Amino acid sequence: MTDVVNSAAAEASHLRSGLDAADLREAITDHLRYSIGRPAAALRPDHYYRALALAVRDRMQDNRVASTQQSLDQGAKVTCYLSAEFLMGPQLGNNLLNLQIEDAARAALESLGQDYDEVLACEPEPGLGNGGLGRLAACYLDSLATLERPAIGYGIRYEFGIFKQEFNDGWQVELTDNWLANGNPWEIAKPDVNYLVNWGGHTEHYIDDSGADRIRWVPRQVIKGVAYDTPIQGYGVHTCNVLTLWSARAVESFALDAFNTGDYYKAVESEVTSETVTKVLYPNDEPEAGKRLRLLQQYFFVSCSLQHVVHIMDDLADVSLQELPQRFALQLNDTHPSIGVAELMRILVDERRLDWDLAWSITVATFGYTNHTLLPEALEKWPLGLFGESLPRHLEIIYEINRRFLDEVRAKFPGDVDRVRRMSLIGEEGGQTVKMAYLATVGSHAVNGVAALHSDLLKASVLKDFYELWPERFSNKTNGVTPRRFLALSNPGLRSLLDDTIGDGWLTDLDRLRGLEAFVDDPQFRQRWREVKRSNKSRLSEFLLASTGVELDPTWMFDIQVKRIHEYKRQHLSVLHIIRQYFRLKMDPTLQIAPRAYVFGGKAAPGYYMAKRIIKLINAVGETVNHDPDVNRFMKIVFVPNFNVQNAHLIYPAANLSEQISTAGKEASGTGNMKFMLNGALTIGTLDGANVEIRQEAGPENFFLFGLTEDEVERVKREGYRPSEYVDRNDELKAVLGLISSGQFSHGDTEVFRPLVDNLLHDDPFLVLADYASYVACQDEVAAAWQDSDAWSHMSILNTARSGKFSSDRAITEYCDDIWNVGPVKVEI
Ligand SMILES: *Cc1c(COP(=O)(O)O)cnc(C)c1O
Repeated sequence: MTDVVNSAAAEASHLRSGLDAADLREAITDHLRYSIGRPAAALRPDHYYRALALAVRDRMQDNRVASTQQSLDQGAKVTCYLSAEFLMGPQLGNNLLNLQIEDAARAALESLGQDYDEVLACEPEPGLGNGGLGRLAACYLDSLATLERPAIGYGIRYEFGIFKQEFNDGWQVELTDNWLANGNPWEIAKPDVNYLVNWGGHTEHYIDDSGADRIRWVPRQVIKGVAYDTPIQGYGVHTCNVLTLWSARAVESFALDAFNTGDYYKAVESEVTSETVTKVLYPNDEPEAGKRLRLLQQYFFVSCSLQHVVHIMDDLADVSLQELPQRFALQLNDTHPSIGVAELMRILVDERRLDWDLAWSITVATFGYTNHTLLPEALEKWPLGLFGESLPRHLEIIYEINRRFLDEVRAKFPGDVDRVRRMSLIGEEGGQTVKMAYLATVGSHAVNGVAALHSDLLKASVLKDFYELWPERFSNKTNGVTPRRFLALSNPGLRSLLDDTIGDGWLTDLDRLRGLEAFVDDPQFRQRWREVKRSNKSRLSEFLLASTGVELDPTWMFDIQVKRIHEYKRQHLSVLHIIRQYFRLKMDPTLQIAPRAYVFGGKAAPGYYMAKRIIKLINAVGETVNHDPDVNRFMKIVFVPNFNVQNAHLIYPAANLSEQISTAGKEASGTGNMKFMLNGALTIGTLDGANVEIRQEAGPENFFLFGLTEDEVERVKREGYRPSEYVDRNDELKAVLGLISSGQFSHGDTEVFRPLVDNLLHDDPFLVLADYASYVACQDEVAAAWQDSDAWSHMSILNTARSGKFSSDRAITEYCDDIWNVGPVKVEI
């Protein structure tokens, strides 16, 4: 009898945890029946995707439970990565990779008559981010788990992620992204893990039971946050961390007033309002002034997350909150979660009755702040009125933080009235505001930029005064990307070539790619290198043909610019070069140039007028060029609709040339630049963001540099930028702008692109025309270099070989050592 029970138990546990193909096949069959609930005749690949996803999720749960338990048992310190965005990308392929069961899953699906790639392609993109910042958070979660560091990602479970992009007559059209429509097999809803979040109302004094005068917050509204947990499995280890996303709910009994007065519909209405809090992700690059709901989103997820951390301290770790800095590191990914500084103070002072100084020392020792931008328009500032109506207690706390802080400034810089005014957390220009970057800086023991140049500029400009006060708080942490997703998973051809050549140690020690340098001139290796790139280009071409109808020849050079559409990233500079090539071919029918495919991808913020017009221009030039037999033997242009992590997997590995052409000093780091380098593309770029370090690592001879430096940009601006001077000096540029204005790409319409041309000629803070001549000359160097395919392969191989620094494992190791003081916990099963 016990034997029967034991063997049944063993079988059941195998069904949940067995890792070979037969076990996985059993598990899939089991989930098809018991979780998906479909008869065999009704099964589609999508059902197999969900069944396999559930089977894989089961396989992470033992690791998940053990990771939490063992880190608690050891009293280990935990990193909490607070981020309003996590651009995770599809999970199934990555989880199979990290569990090292890809072959078993492939075999299991094949034995069930299913195609592995088709099944994996059924996963919708969880688009819970705009671009680089959200993707960085996702890469960091992968590295934290792989490096066996206990970590929790905290964010927002947006019901609608970043909009889906389509084109209509070349214009961007935005569609809602209903990514949860078919359910989400990765998350586990934890309705019992829920917290109340206050909003609005006022504060009042009261006398507590010990006779002390205290303050409490009487909110106008209360919203409930419910946790949804997604496992984050490390590669080749038992560590499985968690991403906890908060979803807003109505509080069932809060609107009792309304009920009691018989206003049932008003009560229901308040439920509807509560649930809009986590409805939709806001696109970047739109002014957030007046977006009360955005502030509510930020406060909502930060408040839930801090309450969860306090719960772990109180109930699971059973240690005093005074120990917080020894047990948790709270990292602010940009200023979006920076209200956490005031919220932690509120919890410690108002709720836990700690004295202010002690609370403040705990807060500062716990928080770290990563800055992501120097663009003044992108630095978060909330109008004081809106802030005070929404978070009245937090505004009082911020005033008190500011009062004490400015006293410190006065003590250190006596008589420097202007400095005190500059450093105030309350801005006075254009109406009073709360300056979130300053709050984050004052409330954190560590402040970092995301590339060497960016960190230097931060200390010299936006946070200069703060650097002079606390130089020891500032450091650089150059961004990185995960080699698991952005090489192993998305470039299987290169992965096997690397494994065959240098072994597979590079997956967790990317510096081992240096081993490729020994093969750089080996003809056989070079041959295989080129075959891999060629087949990646074919794979992208097939995808582009299906999604756009444009056919590219994989023997052409693939010149790719994919990233958010923004004037500072200067997609329009690239378009000017493309039009110049078109112009040269039209003027000289005997001209022979190396054929090139120009691939663009990226979304524009729905309200960003110029960016949307740049998209229209790219599509219009593409339409003209691709259909003109005089030129389309030498050039074609494709705009990949809806750039996201899923299609990024096809795009980065197919590039010969990576366009990183932002105005120097404007791109904080970039991470797309790193993904291209890792996959063997050469970069044409300015000395901006991490490009500087990419060029340093690759060697200047393996990088195409052009453009003004950051110093020169500032000098030109200081002395007065006069774009017309660059046009007067350059007949080709004059002709290029003339073609756009003449309606050549718009069926004779001379109005549609006038705002763009006017902007370039009269009102361009990003100096496009100043860099035009240098960019075009550099593109001619690129074209010449491409002619020598051995030399090109040599440079391409060296780029990959020297990309080790740009692993997110390196970046996370630095954060753990220098900022978080979080060590590894070896999880045993
Ligand atoms: C890497 C990545 C980005 C960031 O690209 P940048 O070139 O650094 O701006 C944006 N979106 C997606 C989908 C990415 O994978």
